[in-house]
Amino acid sequence: MSQKPLSFNNARAIVLKNIEVLPAQPVPLKECLGLILAADVVSQDDIPYCTNSAMDGFAVVAEDVGHASPDCPVTLKIVETIEAGQTPAHRIERGKCARIMTGAIMPDGADAVVRVEDTEPADDSVKIRTSVRPGADVRPAGEDIAAGETALAAGSELRPYEIGLLAAVGVAEPVVVPRPRVAILTTGSELVPLSSPLSPGKVRNSNGPALHAQCLAVGGVPVDFGVVEDVDDATDRTLKQASATCDVVVTSGAVSMGERDRIRPAIERLGEIVFWRVAMRPGSPLLFGKLDGRPCFCLPGNPASAMLTFELFVRPALRKIMGHKTLIRPVEQARAAEELAPKPGFTAFLRAVVEHRNGELWVRKAGAQGSGMHKPFARADCLVVLEGDHPVAPGEQVSIISLAARES
Ligand code: AMP
Ligand code: MG
Repeated sequence: MSQKPLSFNNARAIVLKNIEVLPAQPVPLKECLGLILAADVVSQDDIPYCTNSAMDGFAVVAEDVGHASPDCPVTLKIVETIEAGQTPAHRIERGKCARIMTGAIMPDGADAVVRVEDTEPADDSVKIRTSVRPGADVRPAGEDIAAGETALAAGSELRPYEIGLLAAVGVAEPVVVPRPRVAILTTGSELVPLSSPLSPGKVRNSNGPALHAQCLAVGGVPVDFGVVEDVDDATDRTLKQASATCDVVVTSGAVSMGERDRIRPAIERLGEIVFWRVAMRPGSPLLFGKLDGRPCFCLPGNPASAMLTFELFVRPALRKIMGHKTLIRPVEQARAAEELAPKPGFTAFLRAVVEHRNGELWVRKAGAQGSGMHKPFARADCLVVLEGDHPVAPGEQVSIISLAARES
């Protein structure tokens, strides 16, 4: 174990090197949103399966209506009505047509559809008031996806659109990288449930729900292991249970230098510490280790530190476990709207607010930057990344990382 704090970049690289993609498995299609397809999907069928009409109208022989116009309509005899799902009973001969609904199979002989709005139907005949070219408003079999074609390649992320495509080719349970089960356990004898009134020395467990939500947001399955007292036996018991039943373990608190900080000795006893302490602010007491070979992130207890280290370490790790190729959010450039002070010797991550001015991004701090504070994080749109020893003057360029977007 390294005693000296690691640089932020080094620490994150070590974490990601220690993470492996979960084995693929079939998952019901409706549970696949955001997951990565693990095997190519080849369509067994032509989609659409049969050549069909793109419109409600009349299936005609295009040549019959080549000169039709509003002033000089062509009258055709209607031989049948074909609805979606029905098989046509007749071949369309010259001078005849079939009434046809959107999605219904084109009858043999017909090669175009005249839209209903361009016609004047009577009982068993129809006046066609426009000419159409062969193929007009006809959807050929296989025009969307051909039988034997790779409809979706391995590695594709399943958005709602890909899920629709898989449904169309009849894949009820695609083979995907499954969601990791993420144990979330919070430590602290001072923590009280949200429903309890506060009393001197007590703090509501805000990290539990925040980490749960961060886990859901990246696509993991949070598994709540509740609040663990700052004592060895409860800590050991819960960590063992967590690592035996989950793919990843996330803890909050009890990882600093205090006597009641029982997490580090527990990881040492039960597993392996890969590193402890990172030269970053907030979040420096972060510990990364292994329990039963599973990654274990021990986040500091201060709320801003816990949420920040989840964002910067656990989120990319979960994305890698889930088979994503893009693991971290992009770093963008913005101008400082006020002086921004670094933390010499550390990478500082300021919770900040973005403003758009004349096509440029400007950032200012989202209030005070205490690691125990919730409000600045809740107001922030981005993190400003500060390295080096010199303050950033107003107007200078800084690197920013956008946080999860609010829906506009
Ligand atoms: P620790 O990292 O355990 O030393 O905790 C640092 C600070 O964060 C202390 O003020 C704790 O009371 C607070 N804290 C620890 N865990 C939580 C939590 N789950 N929710 C809110 N605050 C916490
Ligand atoms: Mg504590």
